[in-house]
Amino acid sequence: MKVYVTRRIPEVGLKLLEEAGFELKVSEKDGVLSKEELLAELRSFQPEALLCLLTDTIDAEVFDAAPIKICATYSVGFNHIDLKAAKERGIVVTHTPGVLTDAVAEFTSAAIFSLAKRIVEADKFTRAGKYKGWEPTLLLGMELKGKVLGVLGAGRIGTRVAQIMHAMGLKVLYYDIAHNETLDKMGAQMEDKDTLLKRADIVTVHVPLLDSTRHFLSEKEFQMMKDSALLINTSRGPVIDEQALVQALTTGQIAGAFLDVFENEPEINPALKEMDNVILTPHIASATRETRDKMSEMAGQSIVDFANGKTPEHVVSLD
Ligand code: NAD
Repeated sequence: MKVYVTRRIPEVGLKLLEEAGFELKVSEKDGVLSKEELLAELRSFQPEALLCLLTDTIDAEVFDAAPIKICATYSVGFNHIDLKAAKERGIVVTHTPGVLTDAVAEFTSAAIFSLAKRIVEADKFTRAGKYKGWEPTLLLGMELKGKVLGVLGAGRIGTRVAQIMHAMGLKVLYYDIAHNETLDKMGAQMEDKDTLLKRADIVTVHVPLLDSTRHFLSEKEFQMMKDSALLINTSRGPVIDEQALVQALTTGQIAGAFLDVFENEPEINPALKEMDNVILTPHIASATRETRDKMSEMAGQSIVDFANGKTPEHVVSLD
């Protein structure tokens, strides 16, 4: 079987594919392939398996460029893949759920702490030589114990964030389309979206990007939130209406935001970069050595399983 990999990923998954005797081609570009580059690569190499990343747009044109039978994405999110086009062509799509849950949940917790405690702002302040001695009201932040955390999307990552923050003494509210027994047992409260937004001191977003979650938070939602509220997004950029967020931060409708993902990545609204109450990171929530190795292994294994006639463990279904 021929396997095309759109960008170099940690070796473990590539090794699996080589050891299985597949003919492997990894893009030599140190960056995201343009659509034209990807199509050219696929048309000349003609792979049956495609290992892609969340930065690739995988649509009907891509699928039709080669006899692709399986598309394994090195990510848990799959909003970059046209699942309908895959289904119509009988192409199996797999992803890497679970292995990045802890990494992203730990990162999100760090985001909550750094925003509430103004760590980045304080670092900039100190480096700028502005520290002239202890002051009683310098850079006051938010105490977390006793505050209300609102989790939007209580799946794998949302649940783990809720558990960590519950252990820190926060009260947890969650909104999801389904009940979450683990969180119910922990004493978290399921709420409708509006109530959660009105009550939460910190709102953390963990829904996947779907048609139903595009601009899940926009002007109307920001108006409902407390003016002291902090917002964290480590899910996908377009889940938040970035222009409306800039407006909400500028007018003081909410107090601060931590963004790991952006509406038009890698572009970032310039206004966000100017705000002291905003922390920006370059889509690194899952970036631990352990997790990236496991993602590589899982993506590689799904192609090996498929080639051996086994149903891969983590197939994405359209429904
Ligand atoms: P998951 O599927 O386990 O959880 C998603 C939850 O959202 C589910 O419980 C689902 O019921 C809920 N949901 C779906 N649509 C909803 C709606 N309209 N309203 C309310 N709830 C809804 O996924 P996960 O593993 O927890 O990952 C969540 C997302 O995080 C991924 O889809 C991905 O986009 C993002 N992610 C980002 C990074 C990063 O590097 N920043 C890393 C990993 C994952």
